Amino acid sequence: MPSLQIDTVVKSYDSFTAIKGVSFTAEPGEFIVMVGPSGCGKSTLLRSIAGLETITSGAIRIDGRDITHAEPSDRGVAMVFQNYALYPHMTVAENMGFALKMAGRPKTEIAAAVAKAAKILRIEEHLHKTPKQLSGGQKQRVAIGRAITRAPDVFLFDEPLSNLDAALRSQMRVELGRLHAELKATMVYVTHDQTEAMTMATRIVVMNAGLIEQVGSPLDLYNRPRNRFVAGFLGSPRMNFIKGRIVAAGGRTVTIMAEGLTMPIQLQIEPDADVPAVGDVVTLGLRAETFGTGAPGQIAVPARVAVVESLGRETLIYADAGNLRTFDSESQDGYLAAHRSSQVMLRPGDPLTLSIDPAAFYLFDRNGETLRF
Ligand code: ATP
Repeated sequence: MPSLQIDTVVKSYDSFTAIKGVSFTAEPGEFIVMVGPSGCGKSTLLRSIAGLETITSGAIRIDGRDITHAEPSDRGVAMVFQNYALYPHMTVAENMGFALKMAGRPKTEIAAAVAKAAKILRIEEHLHKTPKQLSGGQKQRVAIGRAITRAPDVFLFDEPLSNLDAALRSQMRVELGRLHAELKATMVYVTHDQTEAMTMATRIVVMNAGLIEQVGSPLDLYNRPRNRFVAGFLGSPRMNFIKGRIVAAGGRTVTIMAEGLTMPIQLQIEPDADVPAVGDVVTLGLRAETFGTGAPGQIAVPARVAVVESLGRETLIYADAGNLRTFDSESQDGYLAAHRSSQVMLRPGDPLTLSIDPAAFYLFDRNGETLRF
């Protein structure tokens, strides 16, 4: 179980810098998931680790061994691609044993490695088939099997489940988790899928525009985002963001007037946060699941149901609360996202009262840095 160290890695294409000096260490046996908006450099970084890209500066080390300039085949990494990248004319067994064959390993050793990987992935009955005789999920298992037989120091996954349907994706998520537990391998996994990141990662690396915004456990990032970008990126639906202004500040307590609310809100900011100045523009953050039940001390906001999404036990409401609007939302309409129990039937146009517990507010300063979580 080796560690993987990314040390101040920069990758430029001509005048464009896709990765602007990124550092993190995957500890032995960690499952690191890299997330971030399209074009932020996730795949470039993964391909750089694999040796499919030459980095401009910085270093990549596995267990302290510098592999920055090593050939892809000499790095001790194996990569699983979104499109499987299987050899169409070879059988499943040949696909899985190919790298070992190229390395000149004896036939008996190759057969044993293939049999072992096939057992782990439960594809023993498909070993004699060619890729075109397999389903998408089976093909992806073969692609993973091909990585397993190489017994790499580090597994790299580039959105391996995104071509699968929802049911198969959730099954494969569980299987990849099992595989990680069984192999105890160090893994780096790139995805667009929040659920994959939240459920599989030991730590998540959130990237944005070629830089790392934050690294931490899924719950740490969800509950204690370093800034508004991370707060907005993790969580579905997206956190509600409300504009506000500091009207008073004393000690670690600040008073905020939020756009669309008539009452000022008093909040404590974190001990290590810089106290904002009176007059500063700030952002209040509120997750959809934190709307209250109308208990004393909560702020009652009259609203109207705009959109209803039934999620089974719960319902997701997009509520029109007049001037109390979220900006920077997915839908751009300013409606607040709020979870409700499905026991109360709601339809578009129905009036409802949103209860906001001030304790649930996140607060971000004018630069988007977290003042309170
Ligand atoms: P996605 O989630 O859409 O796959 P990503 O985060 O994986 O995005 P990358 O594929 O790493 O993003 O790309 C990062 C940036 O580098 C993008 O702006 C992309 O256009 C640019 N880029 C990638 N490959 C090249 C290349 N060969 N030449 C020039 N620019 C490139």
